[in-house]
Amino acid sequence: MNSLSLLVVGGGAAGFFAAIVAAEAGASVTLLERGREVLAKVQISGAGGAM
Ligand SMILES: Cc1cc2nc3c(=O)[nH]c(=O)nc-3n(C[C@H](O)[C@H](O)[C@H](O)COP(=O)(O)OP(=O)(O)OC[C@H]3O[C@@H](n4cnc5c(N)ncnc54)[C@H](O)[C@@H]3O)c2cc1C
Repeated sequence: MNSLSLLVVGGGAAGFFAAIVAAEAGASVTLLERGREVLAKVQISGAGGAM
């Protein structure tokens, strides 16, 4: 059985979504975020209405 390990750097919208899609496809995913939380910009996008 083949397995793929993926390291995603950055927990913004792009990295977070890429990590989800890769995990759903069966990859073993590690997400690194340098900030205190993931999706920080998304949480303030659209006056908070995006979350
Ligand atoms: C105030 C504001 C309002 C917005 N409103 C809207 C809106 O209404 N509608 C809309 O469509 N878009 C909106 N946007 C734009 C939207 O938020 C961005 O397009 C989107 O967040 C971009 O996602 P990204 O993953 O490319 O980058 P980012 O969200 O910037 O994510 C990158 C992540 O990578 C991390 N990172 C960077 N370098 C490293 C490293 N070396 N190691 C680990 N982590 C790292 C950062 O900390 C960050 O969390 C808004 C943006 C802002 C600032």
